[in-house]
Amino acid sequence: MTFRPLGLSAPILQALEEKGYSTPTEIQRKAIPAILEGRDVIATAQTGTGKTAAFVLPILDMLSGKRERRPKRFRALILVPTRELAMQVEDNVRQYGKHLAVTSMAMVGGVDLEPQKQQLIEGVDIVVATPGRLLDLARQRALHFDELEVLVLDEADRMLDMGFIDDLEKIIARLPTRRQSLLFSATMSRQVRSLADIVVEFPFEVSVAGNKKTAPKISQWLIAVDKHNKSALLSHLVTERNWTQALIFIRTQHGAAKLVSQLEKRGIKAEAIHGGKSQASRSKILADFKSGEINILIATGVAARGIDIDELERVVNYDLPDDVDEYIHRIGRTGRAGSSGEAVSLVSKDDFKRLCAVERRLGKIIERVTIDEFPVVKDLPASNLNFSAKRGAAKKTVKKAGRPEKPTSPATGSPSGSPPRKTPWGSIKK
Ligand code: AMP
Repeated sequence: MTFRPLGLSAPILQALEEKGYSTPTEIQRKAIPAILEGRDVIATAQTGTGKTAAFVLPILDMLSGKRERRPKRFRALILVPTRELAMQVEDNVRQYGKHLAVTSMAMVGGVDLEPQKQQLIEGVDIVVATPGRLLDLARQRALHFDELEVLVLDEADRMLDMGFIDDLEKIIARLPTRRQSLLFSATMSRQVRSLADIVVEFPFEVSVAGNKKTAPKISQWLIAVDKHNKSALLSHLVTERNWTQALIFIRTQHGAAKLVSQLEKRGIKAEAIHGGKSQASRSKILADFKSGEINILIATGVAARGIDIDELERVVNYDLPDDVDEYIHRIGRTGRAGSSGEAVSLVSKDDFKRLCAVERRLGKIIERVTIDEFPVVKDLPASNLNFSAKRGAAKKTVKKAGRPEKPTSPATGSPSGSPPRKTPWGSIKK
């Protein structure tokens, strides 16, 4: 079968031909006609099945008719869990739409807001966004949803995994109720179904079997550890578990340099990247980490923002960040298509309030792993998703742990002192 019977317009067929796609994949064959009919769709499809084109192609087709663009408005919104995926999907939009006059932009955090605001003012048809940045711009009234026609939730399970449910609820509440909604997810859990219940109406359901190995998966776990034992425990994990790639996040520049020498004393070669190093030296270290020359890279949160590596085998939170969004971004760098990734946190008692904030945002308790060689003296209290810290308490522990390299942006997740969130997502909290 070719793409022709699916009902896509000639400029799209031409772009597909130029890309060398001759046959639609199963998800494309099943989903494209339904989307072109204007139906809501729930699709179970993993990365690697061609699912991006399954929603991008019909959206391009539907939006290709000429229409005046109004500033700050757009007609299709594609929500994705990570910055990297946003860039990739938007790149696909451009490629498949190269013979059309449809415009698009990636709206992601970690970069300056102003160029994105300017692009919105100039007018854009398709926005590919991560939830946090989209909400930031919506709150600043830099964009309006009143002309939105199509919503896509891509990798919905991963967005829930990463704790985006509150942001998604806030976004969905702002959208016009008359719209077409498409939900794509690698897995269809109870949580994804609950999300679908508020997003789609009378959906056409499609499911394609994917290669199980391609399902992206982030496994998150933590080890309770006494603070003075963290570097010894890290060395133990690197050697005992043969870690060949780990990006380690640490709070301070000083801490990063100290950790490098502690690891080196135990025979582990590591490098640090932080704001105190020149750009040339940072680029060299990054290149070595990417090529596998360096297995262990230690980064302060600020320096790590410039690291354009995703699909990492693992990230390690040597210190938990104060900003819950930062945690979400860190774990989003692992577990991409084709391989599973892990996010490991070394949590001492004075990290407990940060842990509670992270777990509350995720809506679940992170699995704790015990390492026999490292019994804990100052044990972590048991996790409790409804834990409510006294205001100011978290700040004190930050001071003790060392001054962060740069003040972190205010967390958009609930601060440690806020009451537990109430959502209809009881099932996620289990
Ligand atoms: P996705 O599942 O969207 O991440 O797509 C996986 C890969 O398949 C991407 O590199 C796409 O460019 C490619 N792809 C998507 N549709 C087709 C097709 N019909 N024929 C060949 N390659 C495709």
